[in-house]
Amino acid sequence: MTESCLFCRIVRREIPAAIIWEDEHSLAFRDIDPKAPTHVLVIPKSHVASLNDADDALAIGRLSVAAAGIATSEGIAERGYRTVINTGRDAGQTVFHLHLHLLGGRHMSWPPG
Ligand code: 5GP
Ligand code: ZN
Repeated sequence: MTESCLFCRIVRREIPAAIIWEDEHSLAFRDIDPKAPTHVLVIPKSHVASLNDADDALAIGRLSVAAAGIATSEGIAERGYRTVINTGRDAGQTVFHLHLHLLGGRHMSWPPG
């Protein structure tokens, strides 16, 4: 599973990505198909398929804290931004390695589609 997982392969640098931040536990890189001027994916380095499989509260919390720091460094913290975790089919999850989307740099409507 982790052998072929796209985001595990990005963690191992087997697939190129525009990595903008990392620490021991988490990695952040730009989405290949951005939906906003800033669109960054923040992931745990350890494979977790989705929020349905997450049991490490600290690992999940780190994603949000990292996103807030990246929002500041991207210059969007004051205007605002959105953090999203899509889980499963109805939410449109396409990559089954848990990831938090950080979107900003434009106004976003609510509710999401
Ligand atoms: P999901 O739909 O699962 O919540 O989000 C998956 C995201 O991963 C999508 O926004 C998609 O554009 C992005 N993505 C898919 N493949 C790659 C890739 O190879 N590199 C990068 N940087 N992003 C990817
Ligand atoms: Zn993975």
